Formats: sequence, structure tokens, C-alpha cells
Amino acid sequence: MSIKDIFMNKKRPILSFEIFPPKKDSPIETIYTTIDGLKHLNPDFISVTYGAGGSSKDRTVEIASLIKHKYGIEALAHLTCISSTKDEIEHILSTLKNNNLKNILALRGDLPQDKNFKFPTPLHYHYAKNLVSQIKQKNCFSISAACYPEGHIECNNMAQDIEYLKEKVDAGVDLLITQLFFDNEHLYDFMDKIRKARINVPVTAGIMPLLSKKQIERCLSFSKATLPKKFTRILEKHGDNDEILQEAGITYATDQIIDLLAWGIEGIHIYSMNRPQTAQRIVENISVFRSLI
Ligand code: FAD
Repeated sequence: MSIKDIFMNKKRPILSFEIFPPKKDSPIETIYTTIDGLKHLNPDFISVTYGAGGSSKDRTVEIASLIKHKYGIEALAHLTCISSTKDEIEHILSTLKNNNLKNILALRGDLPQDKNFKFPTPLHYHYAKNLVSQIKQKNCFSISAACYPEGHIECNNMAQDIEYLKEKVDAGVDLLITQLFFDNEHLYDFMDKIRKARINVPVTAGIMPLLSKKQIERCLSFSKATLPKKFTRILEKHGDNDEILQEAGITYATDQIIDLLAWGIEGIHIYSMNRPQTAQRIVENISVFRSLI
């Protein structure tokens, strides 16, 4: 089923997870444990990331296909464009179509860190909206895209960021998935702004359970996300104790999701970090509340 139809037919908030492919030198089977662990949580779909610089990108379609055809769960394949040529993207789109995969998260991607990485010159794609337009022309995919409740890291003007988002959505987007955020007020403010800008597609909230100091620092380094005081206090006190931090992270994510569900969010997308046990704990914690919505 297309993600568009999943959201159109929804009777309750949509639950989804994000996973990433194992590294090139690890056997593909290592992902089975992750998917096995997520399957019994009954997600509406699972998304699979795409390595912008080429690291694991060959595996995205393979794993999305596995999720859909072996596990019977709808799959959303991420696809980035900044470092690709039009022909390469055409090839991937054909492969997705041949694998009967209907859902793509269309992204610009970040510039690869590798200084020797060869970009097409001139670039074939500048923004995700260029990729959205190309996919839309195929008329056989449902397209999702990213959005940023605290603004994208390269953009210092939220109003401008939302204007660009509107252009991207108007190019053919059916669903927006947010970048991680830790203070729901940012999301509620963002939702007000995008609805005023007549961006009317469903939005699903990307929730990252914070589990270690290193992971928190990493998340904050690639995004504009800010940590609320109540979490920084825990970090100051227990930053070196991963066990306590993990419990705090799961409790924090649970609280965050319950508040979002009560507010009326259309979907929750958990960045599972290939840790199904964490996802399971959160889903169990929210299950009673979720069934009441
Ligand atoms: P865009 O929508 O193109 O926006 C990028 C920047 O360009 C923004 O600052 C925007 O304001 C600006 N902009 C847009 N249009 C214009 C215009 N016309 N003129 C001037 N400026 C403009 N990365 C990966 O490599 N692999 C993944 O699998 C992956 N998955 C992700 C999943 C989610 C849910 C999210 C939120 C992000 C993901 N990313 C992934 C990261 C993403 O690739 C980066 O955040 C990237 O920097 C921006 O991608 P985008 O598609 O949002 O870009």
C-alpha cells in the first residue's frame, strides 16, 4: 500500500520505524534480527536509510524489498540525490519499481565528508524538490520528504525554510517526516507555521530515543535540535552512566510521544537505531494511551 493511502485510511496515529542497512562488510542477514524485533510491534511501515556518500546505499532497495516481501510490512526507501547523476537516479527508480516498492523518502542528502568524493559537475540536483519532481513524473510512487521543526541546519531564516518546504511539497510530496526534536513546543509552533503557509500534507514526528552521551552529542552536531533543561540536567548528573541515561532516554521519548498523541499528531516515526528492544519498550509504554486515541 502507498504511504499516502496508509495516512488517508488511518483510524489511529500511524506508527513507523527507521532502520539503517548493515555496513558493506557485514552480512545482510544481520538486519533480520532488527526487523524480527520490530515486526511484532505491528508498525504501519518501516523506512530504510540511504548512505549519501555511497557507503551502504546499494543495500537500501534490497532491505526495503525484504521488509515488504519477506516480512509483509510496508517499506519506505530513503533516496538522496546531491551526489548522483540523473541516470543513476533513473536506474534506482527502475530498481525500486521492479521490486514493486511504492514509497520513497526523497532527500537532498548531506555532502559526503570524504574530500576525494567526486560530485557530478555541474551538480545534477541542488535540492530535494528536484528529486521530488523527477519521481513525481513516474506516476507510480508515493513521495515523502523531510522537514525541520527547528529549521534546517543550513538555513538561518525559518520563514524562508518554510517557503522552500512549500515548494518541495507542491512538487508532489504526500507525507513529511520531521527531523528529531526534543521539545514538543517546537513542533507545535512549526505545525502552526506550516499550516498557515498552506502546507496541508500529513506530518509524522521523528522521535529519537537518547541513549548515550556520545549519541546525544552526535545528534546535536548535525541538527539545530535543542535539548530542554530537564534533559540537560539528567545529562549533567548521569552523562557518564549509559545505563541510567538509557532509562532516562526511554522515559523521555515515552513522555514526548504521549504528549504528541494527545495533541493530535498524525504519526510517530521512531528512529530505532537498529535497537528493537528500545523501540519495544517505548511502544509498550505508549500502548494503553495509543489505544485510547
Ligand atoms: P532540502 O529540502 O533540499 O533542503 C536543504 C536545504 O536547502 C535547506 O536549508 C533548505 O532551506 C534549502 N533550500 C531548499 N530549497 C531551496 C531553494 N530553492 N533555494 C535555496 N535554498 C533552498 N540523509 C542521508 O544521507 N540519508 C538518509 O537516509 C537520510 N534520511 C533522513 C530522514 C529524515 C526524516 C530526515 C529529516 C533527514 C534525513 N537525512 C538523510 C538527512 C538529509 O539528507 C539532510 O538533512 C540534508 O541536509 C537535507 O535534506 P533535505 O531533503 O531536507 O533537503
